[in-house]
Amino acid sequence: MNKIYLLSAGLCCALLVGCDSLPEKKGYIGNSSYVSTKLLSLTGWQRPNVVSNPSTQLVGDAKVSYDMGLERLTKAPFDKDFILADVNFNQKRWFTNFSGDISGRFIEVTSDASAADKPWPEVLPALLDEIGKYQKEDGHFGAPVDWSKPIDFDPTTDQTLMMPILWGNARLLLGLTAATMKFDHPGVKEAAIKLGNFYVNTVYPRFCDPTRMDEYRTEGQYASAYVTCVFEGMEGLLNLYHITGDERYLDTACKFADFHEAFDVLPVGHSHGSLSQTSMLVRLYEQTGNKKYLDRAVQRWDAAVSGGYVNPAGSVLEKFWVTGYTRDEGCSEGDWLRLNLLLWANTGQTRYLDMAERLYWNGIRPNQWSTGGFGHRNIGVDDVGPFAYLTQSQESLWCCSFHVPWALHKMLSYLAVGSDAGIWYNFPMNFETDVEVGGNSWKLKSQPAANSANNPDLFAYNLEIQGKSGAAVPPVHIRVPDWAQRVEVTAWASNNDIAKMETVELKLIPSKSPGRNTFTALPKKNVMAGKLIYHVVYTAHPFLEDRKMQRVDLEKALSDKTPRLDSVVYRKGPFVYMNKSSGKIEDIPFNAVNEKMAPFVFMDNKDEPHSFVNNLILVNEEAAK
Ligand SMILES: [Zn+2]
Repeated sequence: MNKIYLLSAGLCCALLVGCDSLPEKKGYIGNSSYVSTKLLSLTGWQRPNVVSNPSTQLVGDAKVSYDMGLERLTKAPFDKDFILADVNFNQKRWFTNFSGDISGRFIEVTSDASAADKPWPEVLPALLDEIGKYQKEDGHFGAPVDWSKPIDFDPTTDQTLMMPILWGNARLLLGLTAATMKFDHPGVKEAAIKLGNFYVNTVYPRFCDPTRMDEYRTEGQYASAYVTCVFEGMEGLLNLYHITGDERYLDTACKFADFHEAFDVLPVGHSHGSLSQTSMLVRLYEQTGNKKYLDRAVQRWDAAVSGGYVNPAGSVLEKFWVTGYTRDEGCSEGDWLRLNLLLWANTGQTRYLDMAERLYWNGIRPNQWSTGGFGHRNIGVDDVGPFAYLTQSQESLWCCSFHVPWALHKMLSYLAVGSDAGIWYNFPMNFETDVEVGGNSWKLKSQPAANSANNPDLFAYNLEIQGKSGAAVPPVHIRVPDWAQRVEVTAWASNNDIAKMETVELKLIPSKSPGRNTFTALPKKNVMAGKLIYHVVYTAHPFLEDRKMQRVDLEKALSDKTPRLDSVVYRKGPFVYMNKSSGKIEDIPFNAVNEKMAPFVFMDNKDEPHSFVNNLILVNEEAAK
């Protein structure tokens, strides 16, 4: 019998060199008093300053992928007429009655990615000039509808009217509010308000009426289902409240969220709608402080992960099912990424960052097409759930190619984050950004570095911190990823003379908060702004998981001479190793892992099938005899 040893999640802990715990009541030595008091309050959690317009620049491979995603939006078929067809019907294209879906998403992602004084791409200002013309008297966009009629559900088609229009208008409200927050473009704010009023005055009373529950529970086609389409409007209302300060919008968003609860279940037919609505609940908690919204999101995360809805590569299916469906969806993965980032910002729990990182490298990247676009990939699925990425299915030019770049733009705000308590260094990736700590701005540069031992199991990053002179360098809270067995940090500083870098002695303080797998690095003596470089070395031995992302004890299996481990996932660093040349669950000899498997992003045949679940042969048959 095969021996499989499960370790509980989170058992992996960091062993710190030079670890030195901070006396409870004393701040660190220095003249920057805000740091010591804030640092000591860290057993609680203060939401960091996640900026909406990040200055972050990716570098290297992640930049190439990100830029290709944005670049895709400048190419065919995305001209003005194509984008506006869902509100002015100038041509027949897919999903026309999802009015506002393409136009809204396009406006949303491009507004978010633009600088305020430079709308990008060229077509965006023309869209903003024109779109208001197509708004109906009651505030909605799309075909005329008598909203008092019974809902035209039809489970066999997406060619109905009411629900698709509500879905599309919800996406358009997000687009119009994103554009309003970025630009002062005539007419856009007014159109957003008029659409918001439609949700307040028409959609909420008509579609959240407790006396009509039976109607709402009628089955619809999955992308045109009641829960998917009606509640997608919540988040735009929250944006509108930020823009106008008008309490009606916040109040209606909350009422939608409360009514949503009875319909918000797993499994559900549309993971994109479900996950975007759960993200909205976290934002509603941020706004109102009402913990019931955060609790719902946390419980949903737990149910999705422990229930097998999230596969070991970190991604989810297009339908929010465990099994029985064979495609993923870029939009859902984008929303799952964002939900994890929002949950971290609101709880400080690093399991959400672990999931976001797993998803980025092993779930989102396989969803990208060689064109730069995103969409649907065929997934190898058995009774347990997904086990492989198969061939590409559809490049979705109606949703995912907008929504994934949008989610990745959100991710840029989270790679490193400023807060009154210091800098959160969340992802060892290649990037540059600016963060704000206690009123001071700091330039950060995170880049891969050589590890002095030249050991393939060590991942080294340099985090360079530079600020205006006169300020004391703030503490840096370094995430200990779930894949790192050990993290070591050393540091050097100079006063802008790179030739005179001097070693800095550090205090390294592990977080005492359960679920917050970080430690705080701070210089023992105050280092004033200039240049400080942290050299962070992560030990990343390979490890195994089962298909529910629980650890399988590889060391013990090896020492027990266990011959084979069936259906396991091989991980090293942030990567899930995938079969380079097969989308089936195959036998991989342990000593041939590096020959037969690789991280997805390192492969040159990305569009071919790659299994992320495999049988690992630990002892060859000869040796076992
Ligand atoms: Zn999509």
